Amino acid sequence: MLYSFEVFPPKQTAPVEAVSGAFASLAALSPDFISVTYGAGGGLNGGKITCELAARLKDEFGVKPVAHLPCISYTKDEIAQVLAQFTDAGITDILALRGDKSPERPEKDDFRYASDLIGFIRSKGDFQIYAACYPETHPEARSSAEDIRHLREKVDRGATHLISQLFFDNNVFYDFLEKCDIAGIHVPIEAGIMPVVNAKQIERMVSLCGASLPRKFTAMMQRFGHSREAMRDAGIAYAIDQIVDLAANGVDGIHLYTMNDPEVAGRITQAVSGILGRV
Ligand code: FAD
Repeated sequence: MLYSFEVFPPKQTAPVEAVSGAFASLAALSPDFISVTYGAGGGLNGGKITCELAARLKDEFGVKPVAHLPCISYTKDEIAQVLAQFTDAGITDILALRGDKSPERPEKDDFRYASDLIGFIRSKGDFQIYAACYPETHPEARSSAEDIRHLREKVDRGATHLISQLFFDNNVFYDFLEKCDIAGIHVPIEAGIMPVVNAKQIERMVSLCGASLPRKFTAMMQRFGHSREAMRDAGIAYAIDQIVDLAANGVDGIHLYTMNDPEVAGRITQAVSGILGRV
């Protein structure tokens, strides 16, 4: 069973060294890979930072990196430049994304959907291509059936591995897996797990991705949200509980949204390493 992490670059004003310590500690937990997000607001410089951090994960900390790459604000030439940087740095694994639409970032015409980017990356060399999926349906999709059809397109065009948006209700994920199976999507699908360790984090995340919140989860937030220590313990326990259930149901993998917090990732990893067969 796969076990992977997601990290993000430091704020644009901070040096990349700001995250080095956290990345070293996360790498020491030996995930199968660590994916590095790409700040869509950063223009092509965002690609440089993602590339530099991914290269460090590989060269200094010995972990396979996966570099995120959103495409709607870029031309083919610009994406080709970023891919060339990745190749020069020895990065072969790419999470191909459309990117969120925003009035601050004008869209360009070359790529409308992640599937366009996947086809383009395929034509550019020997990359391993990952793509995003949405157990609760992408917010812009007209229906779950339409969203799954577009997901199938991503796989048909060359994505060999899917990573899911975060969710807090495992039953939603099991229903989604069934729909993928019926649609003929048979690549590994990792479950995105976000340990929620403070109340602010959940407000932001849920407004961004629209994850539904089971009663067990809202009760936890109401009871412990005001206390830093209690929320940290409860959020970690909730994530562990989700992972145990997912593993028991035979999912392909767990992708942990670490928020660059090695202590939280460490406590979760220690608790589930036997369950994931990693001891
Ligand atoms: P797509 O697969 O292109 O789908 C977008 C929408 O278009 C969906 O509603 C889909 O149903 C629809 N669609 C697809 N194909 C067609 C078609 N042919 N015709 C009509 N409709 C179609 N964003 C970043 O900026 N940087 C990151 O690092 C980043 N990392 C992420 C990591 C993960 C695991 C996830 C789940 C998301 C991440 N995102 C990131 C956010 C992502 O960019 C947004 O969710 C974005 O809105 C959709 O990206 P996508 O690649 O899934 O798009």
